[in-house]
Amino acid sequence: MSLLHLTEITRKEHADLFNLMLEEVQDYAIFTIDTKGVIVSWNPGARYLLGYTKNEVIGQPLSVLFPKLKKNSHLHQDLEMAIKKGQYEHVTQVIKKNKKKIFVNCVVTALWGRDNRLKGFSKIVQDITPQMEAEKKREEFISMAGHEVKNPLTSIKAYLQLLEMKFNKKGETEFLPIITKTIAQVDKLANLLRDILDASKIAIGKLPFHDKDNIHLDDFLREISETVQISYPNHTIVLEKKPHITLHHIDKERLEQVILNLLLNAVKYSPENRKILVSVKEREGEVVISVKDKGIGIAKKDQTSIFEKFYRGNNAKKMQQGLGLGLHLAQEIINHYKGKIWVESEKGKGSTFYILFPQSISH
Ligand code: ADP
Repeated sequence: MSLLHLTEITRKEHADLFNLMLEEVQDYAIFTIDTKGVIVSWNPGARYLLGYTKNEVIGQPLSVLFPKLKKNSHLHQDLEMAIKKGQYEHVTQVIKKNKKKIFVNCVVTALWGRDNRLKGFSKIVQDITPQMEAEKKREEFISMAGHEVKNPLTSIKAYLQLLEMKFNKKGETEFLPIITKTIAQVDKLANLLRDILDASKIAIGKLPFHDKDNIHLDDFLREISETVQISYPNHTIVLEKKPHITLHHIDKERLEQVILNLLLNAVKYSPENRKILVSVKEREGEVVISVKDKGIGIAKKDQTSIFEKFYRGNNAKKMQQGLGLGLHLAQEIINHYKGKIWVESEKGKGSTFYILFPQSISH
């Protein structure tokens, strides 16, 4: 038997084994799609998971199964992403033949031939409905527990403000600094709680927005800077005077949340060189707000990851407390306005965070 023959047999055996695997796997739907987005093969796992037989789907466009998929050009979004990245993984919902909605994790791979031409795509789909439902329950619990804490916190702050007012009126100033510090701590707790609740809203659906405000940036940034300055008198927050800019159709509370997170981070991560600069620039209708500190800085390798949920850089783990949620939420909020958020930083020298708003918001 020649070596060539042997390898031929082995190859055939491999192919048989591979086909057997495709036939036997039940937990995964595995199918292939041609370069025009039409389904060309369908394994029994796909029939088991989605309910359709081979005859019902082969020759049909992918959108029959995934109606939510958008088509940017002639191809579906997920196939385009797979061409760009080689492989594209995402979570989505599909409707089975029996009309039941399930959550699935999909991995789409672009298949390139030896001649470097695109031959088609493979799509591997796994039902993750039980995990998603468990996560939803957990997030709903966090949300409920969070609201239970939020109400008494709001009352505590109101009572403290009342006390502050009474003492002020009577001219009894002895306890005023303690009350002011307690209010600042209550605010800190309330911000933390809001971040936790918002992150859980994102996990099970969407962050709510009320885009009804027009924000005059000068006043807005001055108010936030002054609030932070009062709580952190050892830092100096400087607001650069800039052209009068108004942002339209914005949720003021959400934007406040972003700027506050950036300012509080600037304070938190600059324990020694304590000057913080807030500035606004306008370029061809686009508005850029920046918050610059001269603190501990961020290593290059962390500079994109810090916007991920729960991610904390090495710099932070050692020296400061936090949950790793602030920048994740800031990014979600800025994305809602089709803007951008990014950082320029050098370890040991400081960081500047930038937020860019597109022309549509500022005009
Ligand atoms: P947290 O501050 O609670 O950890 P954030 O989401 O606000 O969470 O920030 C994520 C990470 O980004 C921080 O853990 C820290 O590593 C880094 N970071 C954010 N702002 C700064 C800053 N001004 N200077 C240095 N590092 C920062």
